[in-house]
Amino acid sequence: MIPFLRLTDTTAPLADELKAAAARVIDSGWYLNGPETKAFEKELAASVESKLPAVGTSNGLDALRLIFRGLLELGKLSKGDEVLVPANTYIASILPLTEFGLTPVLVEPDEQTLCMSADDASCRITRHTRAMLVVHLYGNPCWNEELRQLVEQHDLILIEDNAQAIGAKSVCPGKNGTASCGNLGDASAFSFYPTKNIGALGDAGAVVTPHAELSDAIRALANYGSDRRYHNVYQGYNCRIDELQAAFLRIKLARLDAESDARNAAAEIYSREIDNQLVIKPALIPGTRQVWHQYPVHIKAGRRDEFREYLQREGVGTDIHYATPPHLQPCYADGAIGTQYPVTERLAQSEVSLPIANISPEQASAIAKIINKFS
Ligand SMILES: *Cc1c(COP(=O)(O)O)cnc(C)c1O
Repeated sequence: MIPFLRLTDTTAPLADELKAAAARVIDSGWYLNGPETKAFEKELAASVESKLPAVGTSNGLDALRLIFRGLLELGKLSKGDEVLVPANTYIASILPLTEFGLTPVLVEPDEQTLCMSADDASCRITRHTRAMLVVHLYGNPCWNEELRQLVEQHDLILIEDNAQAIGAKSVCPGKNGTASCGNLGDASAFSFYPTKNIGALGDAGAVVTPHAELSDAIRALANYGSDRRYHNVYQGYNCRIDELQAAFLRIKLARLDAESDARNAAAEIYSREIDNQLVIKPALIPGTRQVWHQYPVHIKAGRRDEFREYLQREGVGTDIHYATPPHLQPCYADGAIGTQYPVTERLAQSEVSLPIANISPEQASAIAKIINKFS
């Protein structure tokens, strides 16, 4: 049996190092805002070529919440402002917008890349549009020249939900070469949920921003709104990262390239060897480094469930990301984020995620062979 994902496979090779790091933190007596957090914040920033240190947070959703709350506190956004956000994303991209009285304007994806469609985005821009939240879904760098033009023409704040794309490199419109996802715009949220490409042993997240003022505001907001001890400039939160998680994440981060390479090797085999007219493979986005948080295929002719059952019988676990898009969730049944996104719905009804973490080339080939026999 090849499971969809077994976290012990991720953790086991690092167990000795993780235990040593835990012992180091336990013995230090320093459990928050200490040397592990400071080192992790610098190392994460370096990994995306950010000059300012990252701000460690309690999780990825809180990283997004802190970004929007920070932009509101600094007057860069105001209640009621419209924010472009993909309709095909995990709901955590949208929750902070409705929480803070911002107006999410959902944008359909490009069916090939699964990234926000610039054509659809441009149709939805109004004089109230102030920001764009791009989501590098599945590890696809969802940033391009067309989106950059929209941001520039309409003077939008650019925020990234980089929860799924740590280590990915985007094309760098307007310049040569590539740039790191997570450092393309005004602020970026990272998640270290255990199943992410770099996972904590629990919850953790981070914010990266090139703006010192926003970074300071977010750091304060995450710590009761205090800019120094017992001095509260905002009505803040407690959204900090633990020293233990920071210590674990430093170990994982040092292996980010190897992790991305292993995922890319499996994805390359899938891309090359899967050959079945019922199975649509994800597009490779030219000039980028994708990091394949998921390897999503789309199954034609309404046969998704049969396909998954067939793979299960053949000993291959799969998953779906995401079966119900945010606009169809009960919490948005009031229609607050719109009700009809046909491309997103079609994709959600046909998506299957193949195993991509801890998959050897031999296993990827074997899975491709099994898929090619599905008829
Ligand atoms: C995981 C995820 C989040 C939320 O991160 P948590 O750490 O689980 O709070 C946000 N956006 C996307 C796209 C995600 O995949």
